[in-house]
Amino acid sequence: MRCLLITGAAGFIGSHTSLVLLNAGYKLFLLDNFSNSSPIALERVGRLSNLSNEKVKERMTIVNGDIRDFSLLENIFLSAEKNGEKIISVFHFAGLKAVGESFEKAFDYWDNNVGGTIALLKAMEKYSCRSIVFSSSATVYGTKNNKALIETDPISPINPYGLTKATIEKMLANIAGCHSTRVAKQTSPRGWRIACLRYFNPAGAHPSGEIGENPKDIPNNLFPLINQVAIEKKESITIFGQDWPTPDGTGIRDYVHVMDIAEGHKAALDTLISSNPQLLIINLGSGEGTSVLDLIKIFKLSIGIDIPYRFGPRRNGDTAISLANPGEALKFIKWKAKRNIEEICRDSWNWQHQNPMGYK
Ligand code: NAD
Ligand code: UDP
Repeated sequence: MRCLLITGAAGFIGSHTSLVLLNAGYKLFLLDNFSNSSPIALERVGRLSNLSNEKVKERMTIVNGDIRDFSLLENIFLSAEKNGEKIISVFHFAGLKAVGESFEKAFDYWDNNVGGTIALLKAMEKYSCRSIVFSSSATVYGTKNNKALIETDPISPINPYGLTKATIEKMLANIAGCHSTRVAKQTSPRGWRIACLRYFNPAGAHPSGEIGENPKDIPNNLFPLINQVAIEKKESITIFGQDWPTPDGTGIRDYVHVMDIAEGHKAALDTLISSNPQLLIINLGSGEGTSVLDLIKIFKLSIGIDIPYRFGPRRNGDTAISLANPGEALKFIKWKAKRNIEEICRDSWNWQHQNPMGYK
């Protein structure tokens, strides 16, 4: 049976991707320390899958632990080997991801994101697993671009979180024997199969409303905040700036449905395992921009709920426009986002109103 190791599997993107990979017939080792997630997410992944309860038990091994624990990682690879199975690839979602917090806790971010990835890569090398799909971010591009971003654009992250992602990309390129993180596809002379997927703004939820984004702390991102206003947990949102160089003065982002992101991971794996060793660095975005004011209007039209707002000053480190050029994704992994912004609003609201307390 073909096995995959998924780090950070219980998190927002990990849980949706685990469901897609489970339905695609893989056996999954799901590793998470639950620092920002709940084991309930993985129970629900099992329930949502197209497998019987018995098969779910066979196909999902949940491991509560930390990616920095090398002996735990060894045990996972060894337990697959003992069953005569092989982990053919890793999906690496585990990490800390809050931009603001990364300034206050920079050491934790380097330790968890970069330190954790080094432990993981060492274990992979020891057990001859040379394929990894890594969660990178559009944050690696920095803030100076007001056009659709393409993989060859300069890398200039402006916060510790983005720096950890750019550093991991460079480390992966180096391990693969490649020279640049500004090329979408390169052959790996060292025999590695690696995809760094630069997500733009993942949002939405599984259409069942059973799994979704579950921030443990007060959310900072626009989608969870809009949902909190919609369920009346919060009175209004503050729009950060009304004088950006955009048509309505508010920030434009490329929101991409989390199920599209999850399918993008499977597309990346399919490409990696059916091709010669290579390093792929690919944007996962829709190529469609939505401003904050547009989003509030679309939310009202699709859900029927008004989101009260007021304008505040610009947020430190924000950019006017963050938009993907998704051309290389179509070319190299045959993926493009299928779901539109209305579906993102509908599915994220569906999750939020069915689970007003998240997984609690
Ligand atoms: P998330 O916080 O929901 O998921 C991350 C998971 O990793 C959590 O379940 C957490 O408990 C786990 N984890 C953290 N540190 C760990 C460790 N040391 N050992 C084991 N488990 C650990 O985040 P997400 O939104 O699902 O993001 C997944 C990945 O995608 C992250 O690496 C993030 O940086 C990246 N990313 C996310 C976004 C986004 O907007 N959500 C955008 C770009 C990139
Ligand atoms: N935003 C806002 N108010 C908030 C949170 C976000 O106006 O309370 C804006 C933000 O300035 C940006 C967009 O919403 O233009 C998306 O922000 P988010 O934090 O979700 O994503 P990111 O900035 O990381 O792309």
